[in-house]
Amino acid sequence: MASKKDTFVLYDLKVETLEGSRPFVCSHRAGDSFLVVGENLVFPEGGSFSMYSLSALLPLLPAKQRPTDPNDWMTTDAEIACPDPNCGALFRVTRVGRRTFSHAEATAVPLQRPAAKESGGDSHP
Ligand SMILES: [Zn+2]
Repeated sequence: MASKKDTFVLYDLKVETLEGSRPFVCSHRAGDSFLVVGENLVFPEGGSFSMYSLSALLPLLPAKQRPTDPNDWMTTDAEIACPDPNCGALFRVTRVGRRTFSHAEATAVPLQRPAAKESGGDSHP
């Protein structure tokens, strides 16, 4: 059961294919995109995306979903190159919204509250 105290926020993301300085080698089409909403990738009807490119993007998407420090490169850097070194495609990851999730609805692992700071033997059970 969700309660307000167990919520956290993730960004919804949009990943969009851009033309780089060289032609595409793969089957990309400029403007192709998908959304990242929670744990789900949401493709437009009939949409497709290279699994090789997706494999390069996947490790970065969970980090990009989370709030990051303004000085963190993860905050500022938004374009990822196609892993084919001969392909000019770029993939822009944009934070397009914020969505609130419940810890209890996202995992079966119980929420652990930080233990009270110990104070020199004056602890209470
Ligand atoms: Zn490519």
